[in-house]
Amino acid sequence: MKRLKIYYIRYILPPYRGITIPPFGIFIKKEHKGNQKILNHDLVHWKQYQRMGLFTFYFKYFKQFLIYGYNKMPMEIEARYEEDEYTKKHYSEVYHKSKHLLRKLFH
Ligand SMILES: [Zn+2]
Repeated sequence: MKRLKIYYIRYILPPYRGITIPPFGIFIKKEHKGNQKILNHDLVHWKQYQRMGLFTFYFKYFKQFLIYGYNKMPMEIEARYEEDEYTKKHYSEVYHKSKHLLRKLFH
């Protein structure tokens, strides 16, 4: 498995502040360097890639995106949940509504 590289770059397609592009690494907008929430979020996507492998990561990501949309897709929900202690304790309705989706995906 390729070692993780994190790049801080000037431009990322809006509205994204950070993006994980396996197997290359994590790309974060320069102005958000030091934002732990963004880093934690994208580290989850990197772990998903390691867990699933390259092909499955992209396949599942786009499949979920098409089926559930960005806000309700399990891979984004998992990443959002891990952003910080606050999101873990006070997770939004979206998460609770989508718990069954997470269960389906990971168990
Ligand atoms: Zn994400």
